[in-house]
Amino acid sequence: MPKKTPPKLPKLLNTKIYKTGQTRGADDDVIYQNRVNRKSTVLIPFALWNKVSAAPEGEESFESGFICLLTPKEFFETDNIQQVLADKGLSLGTNALVFYQIRTDWEDFNPEDQGWSPANSRTSPLLGQYVARIAATTADHGEKISRGFNTTGMKGAGIRLFEYATTKRINECRIQLEAIFWLCHDSLDSVTEFNMIQEEAIERRDYCLAEAQNSGLLDFELLKEARMVNEQHQTICPLCLEPLSSYGFFNRLVQATGREVHDLTVTEINLFHIKELRYGEYNHRAYNLGWGHHHCNVVVKDSGIDETLSWMEGVVARNKDSGYMN
Ligand SMILES: [Zn+2]
Repeated sequence: MPKKTPPKLPKLLNTKIYKTGQTRGADDDVIYQNRVNRKSTVLIPFALWNKVSAAPEGEESFESGFICLLTPKEFFETDNIQQVLADKGLSLGTNALVFYQIRTDWEDFNPEDQGWSPANSRTSPLLGQYVARIAATTADHGEKISRGFNTTGMKGAGIRLFEYATTKRINECRIQLEAIFWLCHDSLDSVTEFNMIQEEAIERRDYCLAEAQNSGLLDFELLKEARMVNEQHQTICPLCLEPLSSYGFFNRLVQATGREVHDLTVTEINLFHIKELRYGEYNHRAYNLGWGHHHCNVVVKDSGIDETLSWMEGVVARNKDSGYMN
């Protein structure tokens, strides 16, 4: 039997799920690419090379390669640096660059004096030996210095190492994140309110849940452990544990159009990393990505759920001790 394509999700929801495979936004002052696929070229700080440069478990290399970044001090003050690099399989201009961020480094180790050019390719050869992003300073009228990876077609050198995920993982996460959407107690109500026909919504839901089930992505014990669903197998916010209303997925559209819907007071819902992203771990993976309240996500930020809960405990205890709370 040929595989039937399931009915399409409402556009806004589809985009929201698709975007989970992309990195966070970056601006011109940094060397990261802005909202690109998580399988893009990764940037690895030289200082962390020995600890974290390995590709995710089971993978031989990064799908789009890597660039190792050295500080000017690391490059110019390490004895026999070319050999040190070669021993690690690195070479300047091929898969390594010197990254200037500090004005005094720019003055002390000026790349132009070395006859270097700014790099402008994410694959070997990198077309240069260095990249620079130095902020303007008002005190000594120092102007902003931006060299390499700053043209329209080649903005940003790559992504943060810990944001990396393989195509396979990106896809698994998308399936699981859609499944978690469907597990919201009111998912059928919201999608039909946003232009899906009831039968098609049911068909899409069943298709997605079956696909998740068949790929090992719908293990309720693991989902509960990861704080994504409650005992009733309904989607909850990983921090506050409140059941999530699926209307929160459409929040932005509602605000933009001023459209009348069922409940305008629902909180916006965002992608939520259960274990935070950090160097040394690849946490964009199934059973680590859920949906949560925008507010709760902001509170947890990069510190993680456990640390946030201890902090909250302290906040409440101090408020009680001081008589502000009963
Ligand atoms: Zn919450």
